[in-house]
Amino acid sequence: MDMTEERRQLTVEEIHELREKLLKRREELWEEVRETLTSRLGPEYRDVIQTVREEEDLAQADLQEDIVIEALKSRKAELEDMAKALWLMDRGEYGKCQGCGRWIRFKRLQARPSAIYCLNCEEKREREGRAAAE
Ligand SMILES: [Zn+2]
Repeated sequence: MDMTEERRQLTVEEIHELREKLLKRREELWEEVRETLTSRLGPEYRDVIQTVREEEDLAQADLQEDIVIEALKSRKAELEDMAKALWLMDRGEYGKCQGCGRWIRFKRLQARPSAIYCLNCEEKREREGRAAAE
């Protein structure tokens, strides 16, 4: 692995590539959420569930709340990161670490396009999160 890969601003093409990747991953996640909801709520809800594309839709769909929460549970953090990443893309600030302000390495973003922190800051946050929980 090339550890010297520089931190630099992303090109327009790179951002486009990462955006496509992110949107595809987000669609996969929502598909999983819809599948979980359908299996828990029954086929009579299928039509309503198929319209769900984001969290606001869930509120509109007026589904049983505990089942919705359960379906989202393990995916909520990633979906929130994705929403933040897309928001940053629209503002032209995507790729910049929200912790230290330096550029996140392209390879890291390719592996996880929803990343909004560089690896250093992410690890630091995890350590602090654990410490705070203790
Ligand atoms: Zn950072």
